[in-house]
Amino acid sequence: TAVVDRLRSDRPVFSVEFFPPKDAEAERQLWRAIRELEPLDPAFVSVTYGAGGSSRDRTIRVTGRIAQETTLLPVAHLTAVNHSVAELRNVIGSYASVGVRNILALRGDPPGDPNGEWVKHPQGLTYAEELVRLIRDLGDFCVGVAAYPFGHPRSADLDTDAEFFVRKLRAGSHYAVSQMFFRVDDFLRLRDRIASRGVDLDQVPLLPGLMPIRSVKGVQKMAEMANTEIPPEVIARVEPYAGDLEAVRAIGVDIATELAQRLLDEGLKNLHFYTMNRSNSTVQVLDRLGLLPARARV
Ligand code: FAD
Repeated sequence: TAVVDRLRSDRPVFSVEFFPPKDAEAERQLWRAIRELEPLDPAFVSVTYGAGGSSRDRTIRVTGRIAQETTLLPVAHLTAVNHSVAELRNVIGSYASVGVRNILALRGDPPGDPNGEWVKHPQGLTYAEELVRLIRDLGDFCVGVAAYPFGHPRSADLDTDAEFFVRKLRAGSHYAVSQMFFRVDDFLRLRDRIASRGVDLDQVPLLPGLMPIRSVKGVQKMAEMANTEIPPEVIARVEPYAGDLEAVRAIGVDIATELAQRLLDEGLKNLHFYTMNRSNSTVQVLDRLGLLPARARV
């Protein structure tokens, strides 16, 4: 199944993102989340791709297991970091051999210092656009790409950011997933920039990325990694409870529900959740939105 076929739906659908677990306990935690989300029928579940060899192997292993042992549709992330084209072909081939035909194509960041100078592998690629072409050339893959409500930090301005983003879509992308954001208008402005350049977003869905906050430190770290600012009105809601994890998580569910509801009111049909490998907040948001199958209501 191609992800994009599940996204072009009349009713709202959701998807979730995981990262490869770093040890046995983290792996058990991830599989609990996977099993809890499975009956809720997400459109897809994606697994991020790190910079180190062992983390990369874990991404391949987890996506393969999801493809083979669950009813879920896995999406494997892939980056151009430190890979020659020959290696990228191999990784894409190993995804295909475990039944993974949906890939999120990313350029990635320089390992060590994400804001440092991008150095292309001598036999590698420079932009995600080229990776999209490579994957499409290798076979029948459904390919997604990343989008940035505030523009990518390396982009000179929002207009050039949108121009290059549209080129990346036209290279053969089927859909895009946005970086996390906490103001709906930031996402809607991104959508307008893309639509005004002639992209039919009914054909190439743009998924809003929502991160239900679980801890103040956690979201600050994620925001830093994602080069995103958490707006002061969001900080003001969670900060007073910073020492009470359960209270912060509950407010995180409130905030994500409010954002999601506004997006649905704007006609959006897809919601993508950054889960941090846990299911509870995402399930609660979906429940509040009335998007859970009847038998799975919490
Ligand atoms: P690109 O689309 O290649 O863009 C990079 C920069 O180059 C932008 O400024 C763009 O405007 C510019 N540009 C593009 N094309 C051209 C051109 N032809 N000429 C000049 N400039 C150009 N990172 C990981 O390491 N692993 C993951 O699993 C991962 N998953 C992610 C998932 C999502 C949904 C998002 C939003 C990000 C993810 N990232 C991940 C982070 C991502 O790798 C970084 O943000 C990275 O810096 C950019 O990747 P990209 O694919 O967006 O790059």
